[in-house]
Amino acid sequence: MNNPILPGATIGIFGSGQLGRMLALAARRMGYRVHTFSPDTDSPTGQVADLEISAPYADLDAVRRFVRGVDVVTFEFENVAAAVAEIALAAGVPVRPGGHVLHTTQHRRREKNFLVAAGLPVAPFVSVHNLADLQRGLAHLGCPAILKTAAFGYDGKGQIKLNAPAEANAAWLAIGAQEAVLEQFVNFVGEVSVVAARGLDGSFVDYGLIENIHRDHILDLSVSPARVSPRVVANAVGLAQIVLEQLNVVGVLCVEFFLTQDEQLLINELAPRPHNSGHLTIDAMVNDQFEQQLRAICGLPLGATTQLCPAAMANLLGDLWQTGEPNWVAACVLPQVKLHLYGKQAPRPGRKMGHLTALADSPDQALQIVQAARTILSSTEYRRPQ
Ligand code: ADP
Ligand code: MG
Repeated sequence: MNNPILPGATIGIFGSGQLGRMLALAARRMGYRVHTFSPDTDSPTGQVADLEISAPYADLDAVRRFVRGVDVVTFEFENVAAAVAEIALAAGVPVRPGGHVLHTTQHRRREKNFLVAAGLPVAPFVSVHNLADLQRGLAHLGCPAILKTAAFGYDGKGQIKLNAPAEANAAWLAIGAQEAVLEQFVNFVGEVSVVAARGLDGSFVDYGLIENIHRDHILDLSVSPARVSPRVVANAVGLAQIVLEQLNVVGVLCVEFFLTQDEQLLINELAPRPHNSGHLTIDAMVNDQFEQQLRAICGLPLGATTQLCPAAMANLLGDLWQTGEPNWVAACVLPQVKLHLYGKQAPRPGRKMGHLTALADSPDQALQIVQAARTILSSTEYRRPQ
């Protein structure tokens, strides 16, 4: 059962976005085959996979056929139904991380209850099932507070900030009157994350602390190593290790934290997979988060996470296309900058189309270079001759 899944075997990925794509690229580099399942066609993952199956997740016959053709099942996002994991298990195909990890992390209340039960620090919150819960919660936590739907939130979707108790009714309707959690607003000095991996044998590795800057609730920039004290790094990594162990994760998991003025860490949320803030590991670490996920789900020894140099990542959202195709030639002129694009066709505002990574001698310098590189994507210099 615990024999390693060796190169030549087939990795089955549910979901077909950029995370699946980068996992597929790591897998192919190491000689694995990749099948991907999602409702989409010509997807970021499908473009680099051996096989792209396009069917709804609810098509359980299609799911059954898919899992019969792979040696291990994994996920590139957590909102896949638990039924999918059960079908794979029934077919004797390992699911990593297991369905219990999806079950906990795809629902904010369950996730927060897990964190509290594990003795881990979170911002004060209450569960909300109706308007009366919300009103009581606001009285208890005070304003401002953030109301978040329990299920299917990402990139700030399904969230609303309340500045006064009088906004309760409108906020409840705005999130669609569905199960939610209400969190106290945290006046953080920064947001940081730990991307870590746990092997089938319980081994643990981490990429230290990454500093994250959000814009409109979407990750904008990440910097590594984070510009914080070594004590904060050690605390955060220690908390992340508890999360991976208590959740019995096999694979990569990211813990997002708020860092307060007095250097306290509060866990904001968990992502049981490689994470946007870990994309800089591709260029800056000996083994990146996707190879690490591959090694973990295949039962191989985890790889070294040694950092080669400081790095910063800038997301490229669809907004960048508003004035035409970005100037890729200009970005490629910069020697310290790496361009990653995900093969998506429609550059909608807010959609993650790609990212840039800059390598430098210091985190400050890397951040400066990556921002400058993103700015020149909108420039007309170095334009390709027409
Ligand atoms: P998502 O699943 O959309 O990433 P998050 O819960 O991580 O949802 O929220 C997105 C961003 O919104 C956070 O990274 C942070 O910048 C801000 N945010 C969320 N919750 C709070 C809070 N309780 N206090 C202050 N800012 C918050
Ligand atoms: Mg988040």
